[in-house]
Amino acid sequence: MSTNYFTDNDDLQYYVRRGVDWQSLFWVTEYGGRAEGSPESLEEATAFYGEILSLVGELAATQLGAHSAKVDTEHPHLVDGEVLEGETLRRFFDSLREVELHRLCIPRELEGLNAPLLVYFLCGELIARGDVSAMTHFSFHAGIAMALLVYSIQEGTTSFDVERGRLRETRFADAIRTIASGEAWGCMDITEPNAGSDMAALRTRATLGEDGQWRIRGQKIYITSGHARFHLVIARSEEPGSAEGLEGLSMFLVDAWETLPDGTRVRRVVIDRVEEKLGHNGSVTAALTFEDAPAELIGRPGEGFRYMLTLMNNARIGVGFESIGLAEAALRAAESYAAERPSMGRMIAHHEMIAELLEEMRTDVRALRALAVEAARHEELNQKLALLERFVPDLSEAEQVRMREDLPVHRRQARRLTPLLKYMASEKAVEIARRAIQIHGGAGYTKDYPVEKLLRDSLVLPIYEGTSQIQSLMVMKDSLLGIIRDPKGFFTRQAQSRLRAVTAPTARERGIARIETCAAGALQFLMRRTFTEKLRGLRGQPMAKWKNQLTHDWDPKRDFALAMLHAERLTRLLALEAIGEVLLAQAQRHPERGPLLDTWLERAVVEAEELHTRITTTGDSFLARLDALRG
Ligand SMILES: Cc1cc2nc3c(=O)[nH]c(=O)nc-3n(C[C@H](O)[C@H](O)[C@H](O)COP(=O)(O)OP(=O)(O)OC[C@H]3O[C@@H](n4cnc5c(N)ncnc54)[C@H](O)[C@@H]3O)c2cc1C
Repeated sequence: MSTNYFTDNDDLQYYVRRGVDWQSLFWVTEYGGRAEGSPESLEEATAFYGEILSLVGELAATQLGAHSAKVDTEHPHLVDGEVLEGETLRRFFDSLREVELHRLCIPRELEGLNAPLLVYFLCGELIARGDVSAMTHFSFHAGIAMALLVYSIQEGTTSFDVERGRLRETRFADAIRTIASGEAWGCMDITEPNAGSDMAALRTRATLGEDGQWRIRGQKIYITSGHARFHLVIARSEEPGSAEGLEGLSMFLVDAWETLPDGTRVRRVVIDRVEEKLGHNGSVTAALTFEDAPAELIGRPGEGFRYMLTLMNNARIGVGFESIGLAEAALRAAESYAAERPSMGRMIAHHEMIAELLEEMRTDVRALRALAVEAARHEELNQKLALLERFVPDLSEAEQVRMREDLPVHRRQARRLTPLLKYMASEKAVEIARRAIQIHGGAGYTKDYPVEKLLRDSLVLPIYEGTSQIQSLMVMKDSLLGIIRDPKGFFTRQAQSRLRAVTAPTARERGIARIETCAAGALQFLMRRTFTEKLRGLRGQPMAKWKNQLTHDWDPKRDFALAMLHAERLTRLLALEAIGEVLLAQAQRHPERGPLLDTWLERAVVEAEELHTRITTTGDSFLARLDALRG
């Protein structure tokens, strides 16, 4: 049994040693090299990141992985209205507090360690390999503290001391410090009994009293770590009829407790129950009632959805790493069982079908990690370059040029890669966990082995932080609107990938270009069909209206039926394209990554072609049947 999930993992170590451009992350994290107390050199910084990962890898292996069956059975439950957590997780979090890990990526001036977000995400993967319940709770510590800092910057309540390279003041400093100390944590309260994927249906109300105090009333369900002190709550702040749907939503910070003038503390966020679930059993999933809870508005009324997206982007990347941690655990369990179980004269690891399953699982985990690291890197650079642009006016000419060029690229790539990662990593984690059970045979179906827990735990990954279907709709909408906005750019890229699929100098480049050609072909097909439907809908309308409708008036719900039907397949295809590009770039920089690309590519090209065929040849008759069903 492993005693350190970092040091036993060559692929993870590759990213710390040389697979990531740490120089740029270090530069943005240390405010363009200006921060007080920053490590002396990049070498010193990366050695520090490696030490943190090794420490977390050891804690995750020895305190979680070795006791994961106990975490699964020690269900948290309510006692007198408060949650009693399981003993094993409580001990693990005591250890994290002792080594000050909740301070990891918080700025030094708020008593943090100021490590890059990528290090935090990699810690998340290590913890998830030990147990996903621990990982989700971990992410509601620093994750919420970082969100509060970002919100304060976005709404303009953070000021910066340029000369000393540090924050001067920030609105939620007290909450951030409390969370960093490990004394408290936060949670994200969005879902309600009648509103999950459909956020426009949210009903919890926020009302501004004559005393200038906002108060929240309503119910939230399925709130992870909902026994938190700090709640980020989305509530409807506008009067009914004045701003419906997403426009009427605002973001609030709510303390679970209100201190009355006589000093008594009253719980205003009442924990109604802690859910019994299929998996994730160590994690608290709570139903909450807000009983006129005092709330602090973040930003302006009506900006809630925008603020929520900021939080969710990071959370979705977090679920990507969480899925990889779980998949790594399932892979390791399957590998070690298959290496020791004989059948028909050899170990099952050497039977063709099982060996292929294992190789595919191994390749997928590494390919997903490459995508996850790339998504996290772009998101971090996007967030922190925007911060530098705003707060550091004395950047050199060269730095300003670099910023102008780089920022839009990181923003675009973060937006592109995040839903692809959330979708693909969570779906693959389920597939890999299920395969791990199959490789264990009957033993995998019993509680004697850890893989049945992993499958149960994995099933929520494609559900929370936006289901796989919701990720796919976002990907589809962004991709098609991207073509509408820049058709010339799309067709140029499509022609280039077609050409490269035939003329590129290496088989690797030709393979990647074939996947790109499939992706562009599927998109072009869906776009053409969507335009045809749209033109059909314009018949009978004055020609003068056509131009406006064709350039601006696009409604995904009305106009994109075939595209919506194929959204998941398209997402898979675009995820393959993105993974291929990242693996190719790695192999071009570091030859030792070549074999991973080759193994991945062999299956990915065929899968991309199948997805392309399915998208471009099926769906019409099904949609006709659906139309009949809808009446
Ligand atoms: C363990 C756990 C922890 C959670 N933690 C949190 C948390 O911390 N905070 C929080 O706010 N929420 C949390 N959630 C809630 C979670 O985010 C929601 O369950 C999720 O967003 C789906 O919403 P829903 O359950 O209402 O399902 P629904 O929205 O009713 O969806 C049901 C099914 O319909 C599909 N669907 C819905 N709309 C469409 C569409 N337009 N096109 C195609 N398919 C569609 C969905 O993909 C899904 O398959 C958690 C849930 C669980 C199970």
